[in-house]
Amino acid sequence: MEQKVCSRCVMDTTVSDIWFAEDGECKYCKIHDEMERRHPLNEGEAKLKSIIEAIKRSGKGKKYDCVCGLSGGRDSSYTLLKAVEFGLRPLVVSIDNGWGTAIAEENIENACRILNLEVIWVKFDWEEYKDLQRSFFFASVPDVDSPSDFAIYAQLSKTAKEHGIKYILNGHSFRTEGSSPISWSYFDPVYIKDVQRRFGKIKYDNIRTIARMTPWDLVKRTFIHRIKEIRILEYMDYRKPEVDKILKEKLGWKDYGGHHHENKFTHFVQSYYLPLKFNIDKRKTELSAQIRSGHISKKEAEAVLSRPYSYDSAIVDEVIARLGFTKVEFEAIMQAPNKSYKDYKTLQPVYKLLRFPINVATHLGFLPRILYLKYCK
Ligand SMILES: [Zn+2]
Repeated sequence: MEQKVCSRCVMDTTVSDIWFAEDGECKYCKIHDEMERRHPLNEGEAKLKSIIEAIKRSGKGKKYDCVCGLSGGRDSSYTLLKAVEFGLRPLVVSIDNGWGTAIAEENIENACRILNLEVIWVKFDWEEYKDLQRSFFFASVPDVDSPSDFAIYAQLSKTAKEHGIKYILNGHSFRTEGSSPISWSYFDPVYIKDVQRRFGKIKYDNIRTIARMTPWDLVKRTFIHRIKEIRILEYMDYRKPEVDKILKEKLGWKDYGGHHHENKFTHFVQSYYLPLKFNIDKRKTELSAQIRSGHISKKEAEAVLSRPYSYDSAIVDEVIARLGFTKVEFEAIMQAPNKSYKDYKTLQPVYKLLRFPINVATHLGFLPRILYLKYCK
């Protein structure tokens, strides 16, 4: 099939759930425009101010008023810095799934020391996480980050609930990162459990060190405990080079996103597993977001994409060995027919059925709007 590319960004038909509007623009450009209408930068400051006030009110008389996940990366570090500058009192949670880097850890320690914040360090048991991680490779799906992404979501929710905190700050921004297509990265509790049930050695419900959640927990989190997720960067004009400078000056932060410095698992997935097995180039999401935000031109993005994602075979071998696969076993996974979340049990049918209440919940601020746009539309 010939590849069709969006008339505005660099997303194309390698994304299986993409559609194009009559003007030739893709689903993800349309999502961006709706997010832009909801978060216009000229109103950002005023909106953010009222959100910050609400967070402060919710935390009156308590030690903390928000939970902040910190990976040591640019987005979460900047979110934390801004939170403190706005006068919030975050409880920091740092989660290590076994693939963290020394630079990331140093960034977390420096940030919390300088900002004088307490950190809860959560470390997954490697045998448990390895088993969960292997299941997703056996499932032959692209979203091998999902067990970790979901566990982080579950852990932050759990910590918020335990401390009676109503807000979780999230470092995502549609302007710089874009929204990852659901065919590339999908997660929900039913999906994780089904994949683990089919391919794992450890029963999902017996996993101890990795936070879990049931669909009922999701409902309780949203409508009973009323824990809200706020993406503060979406209210700001967030530009990487300037942010890097600020982080270096104020938090002694180091960039580990550069080649060979990112975590080895991410390198393995993005430069080897996804492009070679699924023809997925994750750089397209971020580059497309930056085109839409006017940070780079489409030409610049195309120049980046014309250079194939190169991988370091020593890292690839190391990751495969650490996951407990032989080279032959992993080659069989690379050759196995490609699957997606659609081949497993998920909450997707329920999301479609509940699209109206979910839509309302995103308008009321219980859920981020992007969830409705991505999962229900
Ligand atoms: Zn597009």
